[in-house]
Amino acid sequence: MKVRYNEFFAMEIDRMKRYNSLNEELKREFGSKVMKISIDGGFTCPNRDGTIGARGCIFCGEEGSGEFAGSRLDPLKVQVDKQKRLLSKKWKTDKIIIYFQNFTNTYGPIERLRKIYYQALSIEGVVGLAIATRPDCLNEDVLDLLSEINKKTYLWVELGLQTIHEKTAKFIRRAYPLKVYDEAISNLKSRDIRVVTHVILGLPGESREEILETIRYVGNTQTWGIKLHSLYIQKDTDLYSYYLKNPFPIMTKDEYISLLVDGLTLLPPDMVIHRLTGDGQRELLYEPKWTLNKLGVLSSIDRELKIRQSYLGEKYKKVYP
Ligand code: SF4
Repeated sequence: MKVRYNEFFAMEIDRMKRYNSLNEELKREFGSKVMKISIDGGFTCPNRDGTIGARGCIFCGEEGSGEFAGSRLDPLKVQVDKQKRLLSKKWKTDKIIIYFQNFTNTYGPIERLRKIYYQALSIEGVVGLAIATRPDCLNEDVLDLLSEINKKTYLWVELGLQTIHEKTAKFIRRAYPLKVYDEAISNLKSRDIRVVTHVILGLPGESREEILETIRYVGNTQTWGIKLHSLYIQKDTDLYSYYLKNPFPIMTKDEYISLLVDGLTLLPPDMVIHRLTGDGQRELLYEPKWTLNKLGVLSSIDRELKIRQSYLGEKYKKVYP
């Protein structure tokens, strides 16, 4: 069914009221649309290079959880230009946030990090940086550098937590305990650096209540933003081989939406929502196929929020002062 323009507009307005999206947050901050450009900074990950693990997180693909970034073979500026050309067909804006997405983007010699972050900042139109990393890759030197960058630009750091439950963390081979995430949050917050936490809904063996416990926990860490998505299985991952031998229940779209909306109500009302559904690569995605219809999932979330007359933070309880 085709959605008419007015209906679409009404849905957009409604969504704006029911949760605080990154898009709206950046528009408020910068006065107009900001393009987020994902790039591959040529990093690796200690959970893949043998330092703390050799095979990485069980769901991590060959691209290091950054399937939509540019090619690491291209220099930074070329990656930005290529994506800018593609995205400018959709968005008319000159404001850019560069997102260091693939692998662990604070893992490497400090001078290399400094060079690449400043190189990114020097590109015309760049108004901020987003840096994805592991909480165990934030030593004092890195924190000092991030703090320095934070004073010069709009910065956020993304941490892949996925779950607070140690049994699941072990299964997914995350390779760090929860307390390392807590320390990272505290170190970043004490430097006024925005933090975005990634959470996966539907990891094998987790109950509905356990998933909501993770969301509730993240809501109380004073993290600035959150990325939520359902577990998806890509064919280039160890999770795929595991699933073929040990099939486990995968959430249906309806189950996901119901759980996600419950989760949204538990988060702080001013939290910035960076993502609400998965973004796997079409050719590699094995399950669940319903995640391919991203717009359909997002509008179903809006509809569910509206039907329930519910909104972000509706049941949020602040546990810490
Ligand atoms: S920490 Fe990120 S890059 Fe490293 S193995 Fe896990 S998902 Fe992949």
